[in-house]
Amino acid sequence: MGVLSELEPKEVFRYFEEICSIPHPSYKEEKLSDYCVKFAKEHNLSVFQDELKNVIIIKEATEGYEGEPPIVIQGHLDMVCEKEADCPIDFETDGLKLAIEGDYITAQGTTLGGDDGIAVAYALAILASDAISHPRLEVIFTVSEEVGMEGASGIDVSMIKGRKLLNIDSEEEGYMLTSCAGGRSVECELFVSWEEKKGVVVDISVSGLLGGHSGVEIDKGRANSNILLARALMDIGKIAEYDIISMSGGSKDNAIPRKSEAKILVESGDVSKVLAQIEAVAKKAAAEYSTSDPGICIQAETEGEQTVFVLTRETAEKAVLLITLLPNGIQRMSADIEGLVETSLNLGVLKLSREALSLRYAVRSSVGTAKEHLTDKLEALVAYMGGKIKISGDYPAWEYRKDSALREDMVRIYREMYQKEPVIQAIHAGLECGILAGKLDGLDAVSIGPDMVGVHTTEEKLSISSTRRVWEYILEVLKCK
Ligand SMILES: [Zn+2]
Repeated sequence: MGVLSELEPKEVFRYFEEICSIPHPSYKEEKLSDYCVKFAKEHNLSVFQDELKNVIIIKEATEGYEGEPPIVIQGHLDMVCEKEADCPIDFETDGLKLAIEGDYITAQGTTLGGDDGIAVAYALAILASDAISHPRLEVIFTVSEEVGMEGASGIDVSMIKGRKLLNIDSEEEGYMLTSCAGGRSVECELFVSWEEKKGVVVDISVSGLLGGHSGVEIDKGRANSNILLARALMDIGKIAEYDIISMSGGSKDNAIPRKSEAKILVESGDVSKVLAQIEAVAKKAAAEYSTSDPGICIQAETEGEQTVFVLTRETAEKAVLLITLLPNGIQRMSADIEGLVETSLNLGVLKLSREALSLRYAVRSSVGTAKEHLTDKLEALVAYMGGKIKISGDYPAWEYRKDSALREDMVRIYREMYQKEPVIQAIHAGLECGILAGKLDGLDAVSIGPDMVGVHTTEEKLSISSTRRVWEYILEVLKCK
């Protein structure tokens, strides 16, 4: 007897319990993928499994739905594997130990993988049923969502006819996700030249910033340590001559940098006024960011007189100008969804090597043309200064559709079932729907899911009553003509 066998809807929880008994960490989804293939064959459904272990299962329309447009149901096979220190479970070989606590299902000592096992359970329960009415169903189970969305990136969707996609990977009932940002990494490079000089070395450090994820926290008004560093240098340039020995800051393009450093060379007679100027910059930054980033600390120390290699004045000037003048932060807010950042960029990594100054930006936008234009801006200014840009890791946006038949139907059905309005949401980070929208022209997608708490932690819980309500809701959406 299963732990969940008394729960309703029976089939959904039966499949969920089976999924929890099969190991399925990211990059190790093979067993669960094979289980889905076996399930499809047992139910005489067409099935495709690729080398990555993505699975597509197709079930033809039930009677009376032959003329309706197909619906794509999508979720991911992998789960985040976290466990408590004393938990003996090996995620590659063992199943999870499920328990029921009031309205919640939990896994003892580990993550539950309700994200996104519940999507797989819902889909299998629908595919197995003879009693549910639906148009042609095309079910997509992807791998490696939690690590880099490689499954969605690599999947061949040429057999998919549907353009209505129900993604089941959200964690709050009553919320419908309808858009996410696309993005890319843009590296701006400026070739540099050096000369030898003698003077007093001054170390400048910018630290104590809050930082954050550039897709989630770019709207929090926090400072960027790389940009504050360039500002300090610009201010020093107003009162004294100086040379740049080194500069660095940040480690990932999608993280707002929290710490940056530079070494500069000044004439011994200018040291005290340079230090005073740095103190003045520190005061300005502290005042400007006193609410949004209160821990900012800009400090300077002298190292004494040395002969060192410094950037030529011409390159140093260009470097500081470039960091200062290239855009950063929010570029535009969405006109369609209140509070949503439409386009942004983050100068995540600043590096100065023998050959070049490198500035790495995470560019994001929920509008593809805006992402292109912003990249063009970076390229134009960098090229004007004599440098070049490199683009990598490009992924498309899931753009908000003003006319979405699927969203309109889903909102209406929700209202009829629950006498309240669902919340329409969009996020500035990337999702699988964005990648799939890039492959399925004209895709109309909505992402939903039942209530979950503590996702990606050992506290993860799945609400039983919400799972039942979302199941009933999905059946109404499938039935809708
Ligand atoms: Zn997920």
